[in-house]
Amino acid sequence: MTKHRTIISEIGNTPLIKLKKISELTGCDIYGKAEFLNPGQSIKDRTALKIIEEAELRKDLTKGGLIVEGTAGNTGIGLSIVANAKGYKTKIIIPNTQSEEKKSTLRSYGAELIEVPAVPFSDDKNYQHVARRIAEEETKKTNNGVLFADQWNNLDNIKAHYEGTGPEIWNDTNGKLDGFVCSIGTGGTITGISNYLKEKNQNIKIAVADPHGASMYNYFKNNNVIASSGNSISEGIGLGRVTPIIKEAINIDFSYLIDDHIALPYIYDLVINEGIMLGGSSAINIAGAVELAKELGPGNTIVTILCDNGNRYQSKLFNPSYLIEKGISVPEWLT
Ligand code: PMP
Repeated sequence: MTKHRTIISEIGNTPLIKLKKISELTGCDIYGKAEFLNPGQSIKDRTALKIIEEAELRKDLTKGGLIVEGTAGNTGIGLSIVANAKGYKTKIIIPNTQSEEKKSTLRSYGAELIEVPAVPFSDDKNYQHVARRIAEEETKKTNNGVLFADQWNNLDNIKAHYEGTGPEIWNDTNGKLDGFVCSIGTGGTITGISNYLKEKNQNIKIAVADPHGASMYNYFKNNNVIASSGNSISEGIGLGRVTPIIKEAINIDFSYLIDDHIALPYIYDLVINEGIMLGGSSAINIAGAVELAKELGPGNTIVTILCDNGNRYQSKLFNPSYLIEKGISVPEWLT
């Protein structure tokens, strides 16, 4: 009999895809973990599922309950998918600067979407604070169980990658892995994966790839200094403070600051030469993989994360007028 598959069972167990051109360029074997093949087309499906499952175990969520979250979009999409499949509702608070594709996907899944102005975390009106307040208000109103997913502080986020993504990478490379690199949104991905891999083999090198405008490059490079400058058009990454999750990231060997102008050509090249369409955070990751390959030298095996699908950014990364406005060269086939 065939195994009973559900949309939830299809989360995770993504393939490792060899990135041909940068492997040739660096003399390393560089693989991308194809998280864009998850049902919600991003790595955040894993986080969403783990946060919901752990809340169910604690009985924090009961049938008909409500899940509230502040998100750049992908966590909200993952939460909506899992919530719909399990009989919960979702209320999502999102900064209005995030792509229209992510917002309309959330609406299409039936999530209640609350758009708020994009203001810094230090501002009380920042989407993460708004989400927390809404969750508190909802909790007062209902006895059905309200879950504030709280991905920046909820350590179940790390668990998704420590128990899932990390072991998958280890098994799929047969343990023959020299380096892992990725960027940071909440840090759940890098923390969970690096803590697992270092337990398996202390010699595996871990690197952070950070976009301009975020503070994690300096934090890991310069002994816990929080500082940033510039900006990036990438979405879903770029952390400016030390969270409970970042405090668990104790296995970082290298830290790279990646410029959008260096990173984006890699994803355009992957579209046209390898048929892989990704979002901007994957561009930062791939540029980070090239840096780590230079650091370790030829002959090494390196893994990074292909975080989400580029169809989520057609109106931005694949829109010539947006690119021109941002001073980014337009790929030749889009001109
Ligand atoms: N890339 C994208 C597109 C994302 O949405 C996120 C999560 N916000 C990340 C990367 C970073 O993942 P993490 O939160 O685990 O650091």
